[in-house]
Amino acid sequence: MSQEMFPHLASPLTIGTITVKNRIVSSGHDTVMVKDGRPTDQLVAYQEARAQGGVGLIVIQVAGVSESARYTSHILMANDDACIAGYERLARAVQPHGAKLFGQLFHPGREVMESQDGSLPVALAPSAVPNERFRVMPRALTTSEIREIQVGYVAASRRMAKAGLDGVEIVASHGYLPSQFLNPLINHRNDGYGGTPENRLRFLAETLEMMRGELSPGVIGIRISLGERDPNGLSEQIAMEVLEALSKQKLVDYVSVTAGTSASLGGSDHIVPDMRWANGYVSQVSRQVKGLVDVPVMIAGRINQPQDAERILERQDADACVMTRALICDPQLPTLAFAGTPDKIRACVGCNQACIGHFHAGYPISCIQHPETGRELKFGKRMPAAKTKRVLVVGGGPGGLKAAAVAADRGHRVTLVEAESQLGGQVLLAGRLPSREEFAVVAENLIKEAAQSGVTTKTRTTADMALVNSLSPDAVIVATGATPYWPPMTTMGSPTVIDAWAAIAGEAKTYQKVVVIDWRADWVGIGVAQLLAAQGKRVTLATPGYAPGEMLQQYVRDGLLANLHRQQIEIIPLARLYGVDDDTVYLQHVLTEEPVLVEGVSCTVLATGCQSRDELLSELQASGIPTYGVGDCMAPRTVEEAVLEGLIVGASV
Ligand code: SF4
Repeated sequence: MSQEMFPHLASPLTIGTITVKNRIVSSGHDTVMVKDGRPTDQLVAYQEARAQGGVGLIVIQVAGVSESARYTSHILMANDDACIAGYERLARAVQPHGAKLFGQLFHPGREVMESQDGSLPVALAPSAVPNERFRVMPRALTTSEIREIQVGYVAASRRMAKAGLDGVEIVASHGYLPSQFLNPLINHRNDGYGGTPENRLRFLAETLEMMRGELSPGVIGIRISLGERDPNGLSEQIAMEVLEALSKQKLVDYVSVTAGTSASLGGSDHIVPDMRWANGYVSQVSRQVKGLVDVPVMIAGRINQPQDAERILERQDADACVMTRALICDPQLPTLAFAGTPDKIRACVGCNQACIGHFHAGYPISCIQHPETGRELKFGKRMPAAKTKRVLVVGGGPGGLKAAAVAADRGHRVTLVEAESQLGGQVLLAGRLPSREEFAVVAENLIKEAAQSGVTTKTRTTADMALVNSLSPDAVIVATGATPYWPPMTTMGSPTVIDAWAAIAGEAKTYQKVVVIDWRADWVGIGVAQLLAAQGKRVTLATPGYAPGEMLQQYVRDGLLANLHRQQIEIIPLARLYGVDDDTVYLQHVLTEEPVLVEGVSCTVLATGCQSRDELLSELQASGIPTYGVGDCMAPRTVEEAVLEGLIVGASV
């Protein structure tokens, strides 16, 4: 079956001296599952789950090759022999499932973000050229420091080989140290490591030569951005020339291409591209690399479905596809695809919330749709219920659907009732916002999961105590969600005030000048503002924070802020709602308490959050029927918390 549906993706790939069983790759990605520079049990379990799901190649996250490479407090380190034991544990967990395991060799150069104690260490780079995104001014490396770092790469690769890894990869992508040497815009050296293309390549070429001598016949690869997509970034042209030269010199056994740089906001959006980017968008340039090198080419860039990956390989745009978030969201993706059941795959939607979002916040990565990710030690296996129960789930939003699916998986007889005509809850509303349409797939995935688990669903069914009593369940899971919250405000005259849900439903259609009150600085305020601006209205967006989108993962926020700029939406930061009258919105500066007036307004839209719909929950708790609350009915938050609580309750009921 696998050969019929995904003949290219399922076929083995030879890289140097090894053969990878299929062409699905999990690339190196920070997980925050590292303690004191070493892999934790959590990381081992996380990677084993991907290997067990059938991925062909796992590249373990970046490992610092010298002390000066410690760019965050939770980076893996490979700068002494003590790292070998941790890599051996990873190899023992991953390789028995048939997956190959590579390590990543890393030095960030000037991209230093933090240290163990919060102070900023000295950043080292080819030249003293500042980093825009992290606002770091580095010191230029001396020649002896360059050599020390090169020796660090070699020693780290030797340690990984000793631990039994199948290969190593130098990270020259995303504006990190090797890329800083290659880039004439930031490498201003006039010694043997700068000044000419050949000199700028010297750091990388020498390092690879030294590694070749040490590792032969081990596999060595390079990851590089095909265009850092930043005015001061490494160009696509130079990256291609570098790959061609390294391939000709037989210094690499494969190349792994991506896009973007960590050095600027716009460039960094390509490190983990969110849902605004087309699936597999890097394939247009990877195709050219295929013509320049005679080693396999791997490609990244929001490839979230095996069908997309198969098309890329079929067109010969690449030889293997990096599907990291797709595997974070569904580690079973390869098995399901190759079993001929791709429809069962839980597709990643590129929301960036719990994967890279958690990393940026300093927490272990997970997935809003699959909270088992990162929690494999606790939720890696479904434990069958000791006794089959009749479970009633009230509410068909994300929390209710997940709780129902998990409880049914464990053997319970589960009925889910939903008052509306459609399952999905607030996810359906979110999917109606501009730049957020793909989010609706979260509802599709959860509905599918519940159906596959054998949950009986009834829509247009409002649950009350009479219904509960008539069904006499052994347990009730309440996931009744929330409704829009209207804050207290002073109103005068006959102002037109509606909430965000009404605006999404089209109730602001006739108004020309609209103020959106964006309390939470998340998707809702920005989304509604964009929606209304697209209808031709003049829109002002006021938030009590520093900027709209402040609560969002940076790569998502960047895209939305760019849209606000393009649509000429006026932004008023640091302002809370005070009141409204016929045609004026009265705001108050949150720091000075001075008034800020917006005049000539025809409609005010409240994106001021939600309040729990918890009446049934309270009644049931008082009735003595075993009852569990999940998601917004406990306190309004996001899909992530609703699905996680659905998992926790479904696994314990
Ligand atoms: S959190 Fe969102 S982007 Fe990240 S893996 Fe899950 S669905 Fe994909």
